[in-house]
Amino acid sequence: MAGAGEKVDYVFKVVLIGDSAVGKSQILARFARNEFSLDSKATIGVEFQTRTLVIDHRSVKAQIWDTAGQERYRAVTSAYYRGALGALLVYDITRRQSFDHIPRWLDELRAHADKNIVIMLVGNKSDLEEQRAVSTEDAKEFAEKENLFFLETSALQATNVEGAFQTVLTEIFKIHS
Ligand code: GDP
Ligand code: MG
Repeated sequence: MAGAGEKVDYVFKVVLIGDSAVGKSQILARFARNEFSLDSKATIGVEFQTRTLVIDHRSVKAQIWDTAGQERYRAVTSAYYRGALGALLVYDITRRQSFDHIPRWLDELRAHADKNIVIMLVGNKSDLEEQRAVSTEDAKEFAEKENLFFLETSALQATNVEGAFQTVLTEIFKIHS
């Protein structure tokens, strides 16, 4: 991890979007601080967290933005999307509705963000397999049709969280370095 006085070669903004309670804030807590909380309170105020990593011998600062409880349709402002080079589009594998809303989030993202934005569809809470309401196949098919990367994650068990961000950041790096 880079310390104070670190030399940063690139700063990449990545946004988290998706319905409320799908686990966006916990995915971010896991990635940025390796923390998880089962009773996370709804996020207050727009905020981002950063983590610096090395990609291809370059120091890349990921600036990850989390919504501030504005997950109602069209409540996320264009400032949130501005300058974003990557996005994690998150649903909860145990909540069908959160997956059914993904096309809306995708439209909104494509309307506001950079046209080369790298998008990863993320099915979170993969640890709750017995409550699954969205099959991996359905999600994979949707992702292929829409040209998105796709992974199922568990912020709780730290499964694929690192991989999801790594993939997005590496892809952004390929486009913008
Ligand atoms: P957000 O509204 O999308 O930011 O969702 P939160 O990150 O606040 O998470 C909503 C709830 O789901 C909280 O109670 C979290 O502890 C829980 N949660 C988040 N990720 C996971 C996960 O991977 N597995 C399980 N079982 N619960 C999770
Ligand atoms: Mg949140």
